[in-house]
Amino acid sequence: MTPPRLAIVVPCYNEQEALPASLKTLLGLLNDMTAARAVADDSYIMCVDDGSRDRTWQIIAEAHNADRRVKGIALAHNRGHQNALLAGLEAVTDRCDISVSIDADLQDDPQAIRNMVGLYSDEHAEIVYGVRSSRESDSWFKRTSAQTFYRLQRALGVDTVYNHADYRLMSNRALHLLGEYGESNMYLRGIVPQIGLRTATVSYPRTARTAGETHYPLSKMISLSVDGITSFTAKPMRMIFTVGLILLVLDIIVAVWVLIAHFRHETITGWSSLMLSVWFLGSLILMGLGIVGEYIGKIYIEVKRRPRFAVREEIF
Ligand code: UDP
Ligand code: MG
Repeated sequence: MTPPRLAIVVPCYNEQEALPASLKTLLGLLNDMTAARAVADDSYIMCVDDGSRDRTWQIIAEAHNADRRVKGIALAHNRGHQNALLAGLEAVTDRCDISVSIDADLQDDPQAIRNMVGLYSDEHAEIVYGVRSSRESDSWFKRTSAQTFYRLQRALGVDTVYNHADYRLMSNRALHLLGEYGESNMYLRGIVPQIGLRTATVSYPRTARTAGETHYPLSKMISLSVDGITSFTAKPMRMIFTVGLILLVLDIIVAVWVLIAHFRHETITGWSSLMLSVWFLGSLILMGLGIVGEYIGKIYIEVKRRPRFAVREEIF
C-alpha cells in the first residue's frame, strides 16, 4: 500500500516571529513521517498568507526556495482565520490524499499529526479532530470564555466537538464534500461535523504560543462566536416568540392588579388603560416578531443551499 500524500495547511497572519521555527518543526515532522513511510515523499506544507503586513510572505517564499515542500498562497487582503483556512483547504483539494490544518504558532502539538494519520491509515477515519486535553497555557479569560461558548452552542443545538478548534485531519473525500458548502460565512467547526463520514479524535495538550502575539482579540472572538451560533440555528429568534408568550401570560396577572387598583380608585386618570395596552401590545409585538423571525430563519437556511446529504460510497 502506498502511503498517503499529506498536505499541512497553515493559515498565517503577521506570523514573522513564529513562522520560521514552525516551518522547521513541520518539515522535521514530515522528514520523520516520510522515513517511517507513514506519508508519501511528495507531502507538503501549504502556507496561506492572510494579507499579512509584515515579512510573512517573504519568509514563505524563502522557505519555498530552500525546500520545495513548502508551498504558499497569498490572499489579497486580510480575510480572517476561517477564510484563510478555507482558501488553503480549497487549494490542496485534489492535490493531496489527506490534509491537516494547524495554526502557525504550533500551539496545537504537531506531533499529534502522527496519530491523526495513523487513524486515517489504520482505522479509515476520514475526519480526525484534534481535541485539547488541557488548556492550562491559555489565560483564565480565554479558557472560560471559550468553554462557556461551547456550552451555549450545545444548548442551542449546534453540533460541535467540545474543545476542538481548527486542528483536524480531513481526507480528500471530506474536502470535496466540504467544497459543496457555498455559504460565505463559514464556521468550519460547525460545518465539518455536518459532513458525516467516519470520524475519530486525537487529544493533545495545548501549549502557549511559541512567538509573536495572538491575532484573536476579543472582537474577533465575539464575531466568531456569533457566526458559530447564527450560522446554524434560528433558535434565538424562536426565543423572541417564547418571551412574547410568557409576557402574554404575565399580562393576565398585571391586568388583574391594574383592574383592582382602578376600581379601588387608587390610580390617576389614564393609568389603567395605558398599563393594559402597553403590556398587551408589548407581548403581541414580541410574538409577531417571533413569527416573522421563524420565516426569516427558514429563508436563511434555504439561501445557504447547503447540501442535503453526502454520499459516502456508491455501488452501481
Ligand atoms: N490568523 C489568520 N488570519 C487572521 C487571524 C489569525 O490567518 O485574521 C491565523 C494565525 O496566523 C494563526 C491562527 O489563525 O495561525 C490562529 O490565530 P492565533 O494563534 O493568533 O489565535 P489564538 O491561538 O490566540 O486563538
Ligand atoms: Mg494561537
